[in-house]
Amino acid sequence: MPENKELQQLISEIKLFMKYAVSDAQMGAAEAVLHKYRNNSRILNLLREYYLALPDAREEPVLRIAKLVQHQGVSLLVVTTSSVSYVYVSSAQQIVLLGEYRAELEPEVLEYFGFDSHEDFLKICLPVGDLEECVPGSEPTICPACGVSEGEYHLLGCSIEICPWCEGQLSKCNCRFEQLEVDAIDEEEQLEEFVDLLTAKGRIPFEQEQVPFYPGTSRGLDGDDTAGELEQ
Ligand SMILES: [Zn+2]
Ligand SMILES: [Zn+2]
Repeated sequence: MPENKELQQLISEIKLFMKYAVSDAQMGAAEAVLHKYRNNSRILNLLREYYLALPDAREEPVLRIAKLVQHQGVSLLVVTTSSVSYVYVSSAQQIVLLGEYRAELEPEVLEYFGFDSHEDFLKICLPVGDLEECVPGSEPTICPACGVSEGEYHLLGCSIEICPWCEGQLSKCNCRFEQLEVDAIDEEEQLEEFVDLLTAKGRIPFEQEQVPFYPGTSRGLDGDDTAGELEQ
């Protein structure tokens, strides 16, 4: 069992739901997947959601979980059972079933992940066995404030993002006023103009080294709630 209490709690819930959802004959296969991901909270949340809701009321264990695409800390995951595959959207905060694998996705979802159309999306929908299986360990480091992965740009307003002009904290420094040559920013257009300037200058993507303290403790220390809607 993992040491983390939260993970232990998740695992016991999943086991309980599995009792109702999985036949004795298939329990071994279901438990093997659960055991494999015992330290990965995102995948455990996915399994919990799956066994709790059982899409289409099919009583089948999850046999494989693969990553389809990722953008700013949000992933589309493909969950395969003995007869069908489903697509879930997974973030640090949420797990939602979108539908069967290769089914048409909502336009907002396609757009978020950068697909022009359903046909465009289908190009990455390889046979399930060819998709990259999710790694058992925890997810790669993500920004504790806004949730993006290493190498990605922070969400605007994130308290961890470093200012490319002064190398201070972008959400706190005065560069935005200096760059726009104003004393205050109170219009949407000013913010957009600043984002253009920032992009032209070159935003600094998230790196683990930017986190000034152990991940998960930043909120209390800087008292900043700039990425509020994304925090747990
Ligand atoms: Zn961030
Ligand atoms: Zn600055």
